[in-house]
Amino acid sequence: MDKIPKAPSVLKECAPCMYCQATRFEYEAEGFCCQKGQIRIATKPVPAELERLLTTKDEDAIHFRQYIRMYNNLFAFSSLGGKHDGRSVKGIYVFKLQGQLYHYVPDLTPDDGQPPKYLQLYFYDPQNEIASRAGVYDELRAYVVATLTHVVERIHIRNSSDL
Ligand SMILES: [Zn+2]
Repeated sequence: MDKIPKAPSVLKECAPCMYCQATRFEYEAEGFCCQKGQIRIATKPVPAELERLLTTKDEDAIHFRQYIRMYNNLFAFSSLGGKHDGRSVKGIYVFKLQGQLYHYVPDLTPDDGQPPKYLQLYFYDPQNEIASRAGVYDELRAYVVATLTHVVERIHIRNSSDL
């Protein structure tokens, strides 16, 4: 019984990789991440609006990070499906699916009387795209959705020009 830990184990902080500045975990060898500087990951700059939402203490940035999963879901093309075991057991949260995992992809247009969702938001009534997205969850703010929509469009245009 004495072998059951009473407190969580916490890894010690380590200095970042001396070659690529990646954050390292305790016991991770120096240069493990980048083969001692031989591999460089190509990165693209984070758009300024998105960086502000992700890093500052502005009121709307704090709101964005609080509801970041909802904002992320707004831009998903599909929803996840499967036989989910939602029983709660003591201990850390574990998301369990049994059997086949599905991605539900809706038709391009919503059913009569239903609001657009998932990929329908990209194709259905684009003039009202931001209002439609913001209306999915009451907690979300239209101007944050507009900012994210603008960021996604700019990334898409930038990636298209790289081809
Ligand atoms: Zn490295």
